[in-house]
Amino acid sequence: AKENGGANTQVYATSMDGTVPYEELVLERQLREAIEQNQLVLHYQPQLCLKTNTLAGFEALVRWNHPQRGLVGPDKFIAFAEKRRLISGIGRWVLFEACRQLKAWHDAGLPKVPVAVNISPLELRQRDVLADIELALKTTGLAPQYLEIEITESVLMQQSSPAHSILKALRALGVHIAIDDFGTGYSSLAYLKRYPIDKLKIDRSFITDTPHNADDVAIVTAIIQMGRSLQLKVLAEGVEQDAQQALLRSLGCDLMQGFGLSRPLPASQVHAWWQSWGTQPLFA
Ligand code: C2E
Ligand code: MG
Ligand code: MG
Ligand code: MG
Repeated sequence: AKENGGANTQVYATSMDGTVPYEELVLERQLREAIEQNQLVLHYQPQLCLKTNTLAGFEALVRWNHPQRGLVGPDKFIAFAEKRRLISGIGRWVLFEACRQLKAWHDAGLPKVPVAVNISPLELRQRDVLADIELALKTTGLAPQYLEIEITESVLMQQSSPAHSILKALRALGVHIAIDDFGTGYSSLAYLKRYPIDKLKIDRSFITDTPHNADDVAIVTAIIQMGRSLQLKVLAEGVEQDAQQALLRSLGCDLMQGFGLSRPLPASQVHAWWQSWGTQPLFA
């Protein structure tokens, strides 16, 4: 096999070594089928505006309804899909499905809030994300301001990255940009002034041990203050407890998302969740 061969060469060469590569081969085939046979599903996690106590949006999170293994989380297959160059097909499906679903909810009378879609760094290089987004919005009729794209800091670190022109074009369209897992990436913050960013999502790892861990409280405080100075919205990820939510409120954080509000929900449960949520206290 060629040293620098494509995905096929690699799979063939390594599958001679034993069972793990063979399993990878099976997984690759199954993942291709998953897209064709409609086995991917989106769950939607609500986001709360801490200023108004209203629903602020949903994050679309992909799952794989595997015929034998049941519901498989993205941590189990997104990295693999990137490695095997299957991420574009998955990403395109996620984008269209999320836009279609939100438009349907808007038409059905749910609040007109945006949906956030995760785009992996490799996708920005492997496919024409901009063309896909324009087509998805046009096909589904979702207005651009109801779509938010989540990218990680790593996308913005590479000098030669095509991200800058893509993000600028998205901004011109009216699509919003959020930095996911903020604080876990590279240390340079220079990109915050170079790129058209709307929102910082503080990574869950900084929220988990608040309010008792003073270091984490200091980091979260600093991110919220920086976001305010730069006129970026700040969302806290992974908020599970009342005390965390109270801290974020007192610090002036704009938005939160986490099991404390709701787990990611199958689309079929969102309407019922929304109806019961309106009549219940946000946190016990
Ligand atoms: P993420 O974008 O940072 O998504 C947040 C993850 O944290 C989700 O895991 C969500 O279920 C989980 N989470 C939310 N609130 C809480 C909480 O209060 N406590 C805890 N312990 N966890 C919470 P999930 O759905 O397993 O997704 C994992 C990662 O997979 C995502 O992290 C994202 O990076 C990636 N991912 C998910 N869907 C897609 C997709 O459609 N495309 C791409 N490229 N990546 C995706
Ligand atoms: Mg995300
Ligand atoms: Mg995140
Ligand atoms: Mg995360």
